[in-house]
Amino acid sequence: MAEKFDAIVVGAGPSGNAATYTLAKAGLKVLQIERGEYPGSKNVQGAILYSDALEKIIPDFRDDAPLERHIIEQRMWMLDDRSFVGTHYRSEDYNKPPYNRYTIIRAQFDKWFSSKVREAGALLICETTVEQLLMDGDKVVGVRCDRMGGDVFADVVILADGVNSTLARKAGFHGEILAKNVALAVKEILFMPEEVIQQRFNIGEEEGVVIELMGSVTEGMVGTGFLYTNKDSLTIGVGCMLSDFKTNPRRTAPYELLEKLKKHPSIAPLIAGGEMKEYAAHLIPEGGFNAIPQIYGHGWMIVGDSGGFVNAAHREGSNLAMTTGRLAAETVIAAKAAGQEMSARTLKAYKAALDESFVMKDLHKYRNMPDMLHGNPQFFTTYPTLVNQAAQTMFTVDGVDKKTKEKEVLGSFKAARKFTGLIGDAFKVWRAVR
Ligand SMILES: Cc1cc2nc3c(=O)[nH]c(=O)nc-3n(C[C@H](O)[C@H](O)[C@H](O)COP(=O)(O)OP(=O)(O)OC[C@H]3O[C@@H](n4cnc5c(N)ncnc54)[C@H](O)[C@@H]3O)c2cc1C
Repeated sequence: MAEKFDAIVVGAGPSGNAATYTLAKAGLKVLQIERGEYPGSKNVQGAILYSDALEKIIPDFRDDAPLERHIIEQRMWMLDDRSFVGTHYRSEDYNKPPYNRYTIIRAQFDKWFSSKVREAGALLICETTVEQLLMDGDKVVGVRCDRMGGDVFADVVILADGVNSTLARKAGFHGEILAKNVALAVKEILFMPEEVIQQRFNIGEEEGVVIELMGSVTEGMVGTGFLYTNKDSLTIGVGCMLSDFKTNPRRTAPYELLEKLKKHPSIAPLIAGGEMKEYAAHLIPEGGFNAIPQIYGHGWMIVGDSGGFVNAAHREGSNLAMTTGRLAAETVIAAKAAGQEMSARTLKAYKAALDESFVMKDLHKYRNMPDMLHGNPQFFTTYPTLVNQAAQTMFTVDGVDKKTKEKEVLGSFKAARKFTGLIGDAFKVWRAVR
């Protein structure tokens, strides 16, 4: 008879590693299957690692995890073609351990996390693709792989196979992924000496800066850009909704947007001289709360990007991925301890735990955000331009009195959106973030 495991985890990204580590640490017999040559070889992230989720899984992760810089400053920039208006938040409180967030390089981080998973006692098999789930009636009983002699069985299968989860679709757990519910992001890593980064971003050794960007660079498509400081490299990227790429009359390709971003006069000096050594493109689930499918059933659970656990309002995909992985594993551990079958009734506890956590609370809070952004391109076009123009009008000293300037600014807003449009937009924003 074929070998049977307590659990099989498909995928070795943050969600799969969190689930596998938690299960193995509790003494369960776990098999993790990854199609990449090694964990991290197929994965893409900005990448900011938020400490909280990982701390709950590996409290002393800071001792040996490959962390680049801890973030002490968060910048948000609204761009038009020649300028930006931004907010910067920098605090010495972020410069004291334990640090709240770090930049990481995913390929290195995933390898490290995977070494912890194996130390905890899980069996990891790489270069093996799970082709389908094995069913006994409506219960998942194992997986069929393209190698390892085919079929492997387990009490429960955890799908941590990322945003484009073909397995869940094939099994009918959720439908086709809709272009309006995913963003396509591209990014580059640009290498340069540590000292240059520190000078340009006004930071010391090991300190880092995050810049989140929005505005004219996405040509009216719903999307954002980012620039992160690693130890001796910068990561720069931009992503927009797939549906918007399809309908953008300019037909701009994602890499063209990235080139445009790199040439922006406020960005170009920051990245000048950087040597590009890595380019990647990946999908990001952005459908939010209303796009989350059924995430558990008889003998199965879905975690991480595979369940769509990322929200346009906060780029914390890996944080959500690790939290969902941990909560799914804890559900299995509790069920095993109670001698329960891995039925939908038992695994419902996973959904209940998620509902109680920040994951569902945040997704629910921002549930109207994706729809609000889709139907209102003015937030990515008109407003960034108006705000930048207003800043220029007010800050330029040219003999015109301030009252006249204020009238001019107000007039430009009214001309672009009319008074009712402005009130309507304010209401839409309030409704999406309240
Ligand atoms: C450009 C970009 C920037 C981002 N920036 C950030 C950021 O700064 N901070 C943040 O927290 N999040 C960020 N995210 C989101 C974050 O990367 C994801 O939320 C996170 O990687 C999800 O982890 P996961 O384990 O669910 O999926 P993944 O990391 O995608 O892992 C899935 C794994 O499953 C494997 N797999 C898939 N199918 C199979 C199969 N059939 N058989 C075997 N193995 C399989 C894949 O090879 C892969 O290793 C970013 C995403 C992108 C694209």
